[in-house]
Amino acid sequence: MRYKSTRGQVSDLSFTEAVLMGLASDGGLLLPESVPDVSEHLEAWQSLSYSELAKNIMGLYIGDIAAAELGGIIDKSYSTFTNEKVTPLNRLGETYILELFHGPTLAFKDVALQFLGNVFEHILKETKGELNIVGATSGDTGSAAIAGVRGKDNINIFIMFPEGKTSELQELQMTSVLDANVHNLAVDGSFDDCQALLKSVFSDLPFKAQYQLGAVNSVNWARILAQIVYFFSAYFQLKEEQPQTHKVDFCVPTGNFGDIFAGYLARKMGLPIDRLILATNANDILARFFKTGRYEREEVNFTHSPAMDIQVSSNFERYLYYALEGSSAKVNEFMESFANTGAASIEFNTPSFDQTFAAGSATNEQTLAAIQEIYEVHGYITDPHTAVGLHVGKTLRRTEVPIIHLSTAHPAKFDAAIKLALPEVHPVHPTLEALKGAKTRKSKLEVDEDALKHFIKKQRAPE
Ligand SMILES: *Cc1c(COP(=O)(O)O)cnc(C)c1O
Repeated sequence: MRYKSTRGQVSDLSFTEAVLMGLASDGGLLLPESVPDVSEHLEAWQSLSYSELAKNIMGLYIGDIAAAELGGIIDKSYSTFTNEKVTPLNRLGETYILELFHGPTLAFKDVALQFLGNVFEHILKETKGELNIVGATSGDTGSAAIAGVRGKDNINIFIMFPEGKTSELQELQMTSVLDANVHNLAVDGSFDDCQALLKSVFSDLPFKAQYQLGAVNSVNWARILAQIVYFFSAYFQLKEEQPQTHKVDFCVPTGNFGDIFAGYLARKMGLPIDRLILATNANDILARFFKTGRYEREEVNFTHSPAMDIQVSSNFERYLYYALEGSSAKVNEFMESFANTGAASIEFNTPSFDQTFAAGSATNEQTLAAIQEIYEVHGYITDPHTAVGLHVGKTLRRTEVPIIHLSTAHPAKFDAAIKLALPEVHPVHPTLEALKGAKTRKSKLEVDEDALKHFIKKQRAPE
């Protein structure tokens, strides 16, 4: 499989080249040249373990890592999960919850970042190179990225997070990692400021080349690829319990459009997904887009689901490329209009507009009510991101098609929101308990590109 950019100026990359490039050098996002149809394999894949399924699916997109080597990388990546199914499907009455939080940092991003860390390690061993990973996080990406590469040779990681805007535990999950290759940067600004800083260092191509910068943000193709697998796994788990299942809906709490874009690809590959239900919090640019065709930026709202407090969705352009029928010219035009005016539209209700998606949003109150409801009915504690999905799923439910809800974090990570909804309930997890009182390390950073570059230069091992 070869990779190309949505903006049309980069093409014919191998998988490892695409992984190392992260954001495409023309400012676009990388996509596979084609999406394989796997419909004829579905029956045979039904009974595979998670790792075996991952090898089959991911192997289709990776042409330059030998199968045995890739198998080893995948086995290693999912051996760190504490549930034997890796992403178990939990049934609560008519509600299906796909628990994606059994990895080292208790959030779904581990599924992708454990894999990405091992891919980087593999590539650097082959090329004898070094890598300086720079990332921005609204909370969960940072700790999951750090967990993916901590202690690995020839890799430094620099993670920017908006100071005071992640939960205390999320910050601890990052700053308690004391490995010498891990650098936490507390930025005096918002998550969008962190993302803008990241975009600007990556767009300085000479700097990027000199310091071998790599990305782990959800724009990295390897992350999307790893996330495709659990849509298949969830479908097979549901079918195992209910063999007559045909189509399913997936409800995905969304921020950067990464997780749900993986579902979009799974659907393109032939997995019988009827609708992808996109669920946002009050930062509802994506929900508005799928209702009206207009993509319009607003101010960031701070909510109980902070990992989704995002206005400009970094993976949206990947979807746009398909929605605009693979026309890089139209993608460029749309993104330019959005950059210049804060808004852009595609014609709504034309045949090219995708009816695959249904969309809705949840207010803070509705999010807390969803946490209360599932606890009262089933005694199940859910994190606020998952609860956004539960609320939206409820409003869009149809009796004939089951909905699988993606559960993106363990509730103990977001105990402050749980406390508001359920004052008597204290979700805990031993991994998090072990962090309390741990030794930490972080550095402060202004919203300033030069300050960031200076920090990267300074921390790098001397030549
Ligand atoms: C990152 C994250 C999301 C949003 O995922 P995207 O791929 O950015 O849409 C949702 N919930 C949690 C807990 C997250 O960490």
